[in-house]
Amino acid sequence: MYDYDLLVVGSANADLVIGVERRPAAGETVLGGDLAVHPGGKGGNQAVAAARLGARTALLARVGDDAHGRLLLDAQRAAGVDTAGVRVGGAPTGVALITVDPSGDNSIVVSPGANARLTPADVRSAAGLVRAARVVSAQLEIPLETVVEVVRTLSPDGRFVLNPSPPRPLPDEVLALCDPLIVNEHEARVLLGGACEGDDPADWARLLLARGPRSVVVTLGAAGALVCDGSGVNRVPAPKVDAVDTTGAGDAFTAALAVGLGSGAPLADAAAHAVRVGAAAVTRRGAQESYPTLAEVESL
Ligand code: ATP
Repeated sequence: MYDYDLLVVGSANADLVIGVERRPAAGETVLGGDLAVHPGGKGGNQAVAAARLGARTALLARVGDDAHGRLLLDAQRAAGVDTAGVRVGGAPTGVALITVDPSGDNSIVVSPGANARLTPADVRSAAGLVRAARVVSAQLEIPLETVVEVVRTLSPDGRFVLNPSPPRPLPDEVLALCDPLIVNEHEARVLLGGACEGDDPADWARLLLARGPRSVVVTLGAAGALVCDGSGVNRVPAPKVDAVDTTGAGDAFTAALAVGLGSGAPLADAAAHAVRVGAAAVTRRGAQESYPTLAEVESL
């Protein structure tokens, strides 16, 4: 019996968001609207998204001993996330500088701060927490060696879900446990490198699966997602919605998928649920603030 449906191991950032008419090119300055500060980071986002859906959720992360860190912890607790695993101090809280244009597309710069100080030792000291979760999800806004320690610490029948963002080469021992590896188009292209020929995401999914993960999911924005496991590649269409802000849509998708898998759903069914959660998330502004409850997803 697991204490948690999902443990998220990852980043917690303060998102500093400015709306702009047009995102700046290199060397260019543009004027934007008023600054808004929101709780974010891929780990923090996934934990809040999962808790909003009703999952028993815990977060293993590191924040600074500062105002941004307190803001992030408050947001997690308000959503119902267990924050006993969140370490405090060692560096300023991570920050993401985000510009969003009127179409909802965004550009992001991340200062990792405390996220870069979440170490393998932090994972070892939280081994009981890692093994108390049915599903453990991670991303790559924390050190890769910390993610390696997570897969070494998993309980024997625990399930591991990885969104390799920002993308970088992954050790075989991490790839082998991903079930699934969740990538968007950019992440797929980076991970596949020279092997990424052509524009068919189904080919990317098959090529990625051949690298060792137990399953692969490719998210395709408004087009939904592709699911790939031993039985082939299946498309999961997303509901049509008016997208106002795609910030954090991938995190909502990943969290919903992990929660679905934790409840025992097959991968295709969990993905069908996740595209609905992702679609609901893009209909509202912000990341964590945009995440739907189960009732809101059902009424979509
Ligand atoms: P982000 O980096 O913006 O958080 P991402 O690039 O990691 O997102 P996407 O593929 O853009 O991931 O989106 C993840 C999921 O969110 C999609 O699979 C889909 O279910 C949903 N989604 C995203 N954009 C839209 C949209 N315009 N309409 C409907 N659903 C969407």
